[in-house]
Amino acid sequence: MTIAVSPDAHPALVLNADYRPLSYFPLSLWSWQDALKAVFLDRVNIVSEYDVLVHSPSFEFHLPSVVSLKTFVRPSRQPAFTRFNVFLRDRFECQYCGSRDELTFDHLLPRSKGGQTTWENVVAACSACNLRKADKTPAEVGMQLNGRAFAPTVHDLHRNGRLFPPNHLHESWLDFLYWDVELDP
Ligand SMILES: [Zn+2]
Repeated sequence: MTIAVSPDAHPALVLNADYRPLSYFPLSLWSWQDALKAVFLDRVNIVSEYDVLVHSPSFEFHLPSVVSLKTFVRPSRQPAFTRFNVFLRDRFECQYCGSRDELTFDHLLPRSKGGQTTWENVVAACSACNLRKADKTPAEVGMQLNGRAFAPTVHDLHRNGRLFPPNHLHESWLDFLYWDVELDP
């Protein structure tokens, strides 16, 4: 195949068989190579295409912009514990002062005192608050948490995700992203 397309460009949004994104956080995206492979292996349907052609001697193909799995995959109910998802749970705000500048991660019980890197022990904190708290617990330095450190549900992250949509959304994806729809029962 002679293809002049950057590997990072033109990712495909991957939908489950029910036409909802396979995952939101992170948004399920495949490289165009993986998307084409899945098309050839007959694992996905093409829902929408980019206006970009790839050629080989025997065929011509539009790169898929949205694909849907042919077989439904049960979505995981527990969001992955990732840095992004911790920030999303905490709405990209320092959990002590509300600042959005220079966000870092703070261990409530410091690691030096056996604190673990878990949903319940990690919060977003601006670097000033993190410095001030240093190697202490919030109580020891008289700092108050705005919220509480908890393991969020997918619904919790959806709710906050609508406030912070990703930067780059292809127009063909928008029909399948429910940022504006109330998903909570
Ligand atoms: Zn702060």
